[in-house]
Formats: sequence, C-alpha cells, structure tokens
Amino acid sequence: MNHLLLELANKRQTYRKMLNLYWMTIILTVLLEHLIHRLGPSSISNSFTQQLILQTLGLAAVTGVTEMLYRYRKVHSDNLLLITGIIYASSIIFINPTIGIVPAIYIFPILTSVLSFNKTRILLAFSLTLLCFVCMYALSPDLRFSMQPIHIFGVLFLYIGVTIIALAITTSGIELLGNLKHATEARQELLVKNIIMDRLSKIDALTDLYNHKTFHEYLEKLVEQNESNQLSLQLAIMDIDNFKKINDTYGHWVGDIMLQRVANIIKETVTPNDFVARYGGEEFAVIFTEKTLEQSLSIVEQVRQKLAVSLHPELESQAATLSIGLHNYIKGDGKETLFRGADASLYTAKRTGKNKTVVHSLISDPKGA
Ligand code: GH3
Ligand code: MG
Ligand code: MG
Repeated sequence: MNHLLLELANKRQTYRKMLNLYWMTIILTVLLEHLIHRLGPSSISNSFTQQLILQTLGLAAVTGVTEMLYRYRKVHSDNLLLITGIIYASSIIFINPTIGIVPAIYIFPILTSVLSFNKTRILLAFSLTLLCFVCMYALSPDLRFSMQPIHIFGVLFLYIGVTIIALAITTSGIELLGNLKHATEARQELLVKNIIMDRLSKIDALTDLYNHKTFHEYLEKLVEQNESNQLSLQLAIMDIDNFKKINDTYGHWVGDIMLQRVANIIKETVTPNDFVARYGGEEFAVIFTEKTLEQSLSIVEQVRQKLAVSLHPELESQAATLSIGLHNYIKGDGKETLFRGADASLYTAKRTGKNKTVVHSLISDPKGA
C-alpha cells in the first residue's frame, strides 16, 4: 500500500523539486538576510558578512552532499531531505537570533515532511524540530534574550498546530489515494471481465475456434466489403466423416478429442488471414480472403490429407477423415448463395464417397479419395 502511495505521489519528481527548492532557498536566504540587516538599525558589520558567507557555504555543502547522493547513488531518502531542511532552518535561526519569532521557521521542515505521505515522518520532523529548538534556546544567549515567554508559547503552539494539520492532510491524502486505488482496481477488474465475456461470446470453448454466431457476423461483413471492392473470397465447410460412429464406438469423450485434433490441424494449416470457426457439431467453416480459388483449394486439401494420414490411439490407431465443400464468391451473389454453394459441395462430397473436397464450380470433378 505504502509503495503504491509513494508511486502515486511520484516520489522521484517530488524529491527533485525539493532539492531545487533547497538550492533556491540558499539564494533567497542570503538576499533576505542581507536586506534585513541593511534595513536594520545598524549597518552591516564585517562579522555578519563573514557569518553570512559561512552560512551560505555550509548550506551549499549540505545540499551538495544530498544532491550527490541523489544523482550518483540514487538515494532518495525522505529522512535526508528532512535533516537538510532542519539544518537550513537552524542556520537561519542561528544567524538571526535577535528576531524574536525566528524559530517559527522550523514549521517548514514539518510542512515539507507532508510530501512523504508518512505520518511517522511527520512526527519525526516534529520531534527533531522540538529538540533543535530546545538546543538552540539553551545554546544561544541572544535567542534567550530576544524571546519573551509569549514567543516561546507561540512557537510551540505553531509547531503543534502545523503538525496536527500535516497529520490531517496526510490522513485524508492516504484515504483519497486508497479510494482512488480501489476505484482503479474495480475499473480494471471490470475491463478484464468485459474482455473475458467478449471472448466467451465469440469463441467455442472445446476447440478454441470462433463460434457459429461470430462466423456469420464475419462472413456478412466480408460479403459487404466484397461488394464495394474486389476482395477475393472463398468459403469452405468441413464435416468429419462418420462422426456419430466414432462417438458410438469409442465414447463421446473420444469424439471431443477428435474435434480438438481436427480443429488444431485446420488452425496449423491455414494462414493468419484465414478465419476458422466451429460451425456446429462436427462441422467447421473456413473463410479465405486475398487468395485465389486454387490457393484455398490447396490449403483445404492439405487439411484433409493431414487428417487422413494421422493415426489416433483413441481410435485403435485408425485415421479419421473429412469431407469438404468449397465455394468461390462471385460479386453480387450474396451471403446465402455463397453458403448454399459450399453446403451443396459438401453434400456432393458426402454422397460420392466422403474423404474428398468438392469445389462448387467443379462439382463434376471432385478431389480426394
Ligand atoms: P457424416 O459422415 O454423413 O457426416 O455422418 P456423421 O456421423 O458424421 O454425421 P451425423 O450428423 O449423423 O452425426 C454427427 C454427430 O456428432 C451427432 C452428434 O451427437 C455428434 N456431436 C455433435 N456435437 C458434438 C460434440 O460437441 N461432441 C461430441 N463428442 N459429439 C458431438
Ligand atoms: Mg454434420
Ligand atoms: Mg459428419
């Protein structure tokens, strides 16, 4: 969950932005402090300029180390960013102890810790801030002198308030991302279900071929296309010979195995552009496009011959055979004529001895056994 949240928060980009912000803060700090002391009652002293230079170099060194670790060691530690932020705030307080409310600047590391989407880190930022403030207060007489009790209460109140707000932001952020995650998951699940349902409605479960309904839809589209352009189109209907006998002799489970075997032979023999469907029972249909009638005939003959020479242990090492009717589409004929032509050829193949291919226009010259 945390991993996802960090990903959603685009951790790398946030880290880069924070580093850029730190670099910019160095420049802004120098400019601001220079301005404050210029507008202040006394003119800028040499020791202040030295302090400012030292502070700038110190902050640049700290940010440089964080930058190097990020660039060359691929370290993006939120703790490192937090410590860098606290060092920034401490150095600003250290150099301006006479401004009574300057420790309020510690709210910035607490605020930036919100970007980690981690409540523990916010509490860590708060604890470190409190610790650093106590140390600063104990070590700097100037700070003690400039801070009245009301300032101390005000600053502590500010730390606690900002921490509570930071925790509340993180809580609702985590909730929001959690909801977003659930919504995304639900949408993905629905999408997958739709794809599965769509496939189930188009595919025959036993043979993994397209089903009867899809065959008709596809054939209709192709016939329509054929009317508007010169797309060649052939339809073959294939029927396993004496299939009832296979079922009756060896059982329906052997019949099912044979259906799968025949489907596989057809699939491995046709080209990727050809459309294969289980038309129903032990009948298969193949639609050929962008082929001549001779090329389609050659493919269906290969299917028939492959099956005729395959011996199946389930059939006591005998072969099964197929009868095929093939019809070439002629522009203007329509889907029904194409289908009836292929069916009539299949009927002729059955009537004239089975295990053969009959082409509609060549009914007098059947190929095969
Ligand atoms: P022909 O050579 O003239 O085609 O005869 P046939 O026995 O192959 O044809 P018939 O139409 O008499 O029998 C087809 C059989 O196919 C009848 C039916 O029980 C069987 N069948 C249909 N679908 C399935 C199926 O999914 N699995 C099995 N095992 N058998 C099926
Ligand atoms: Mg049949
Ligand atoms: Mg049959």
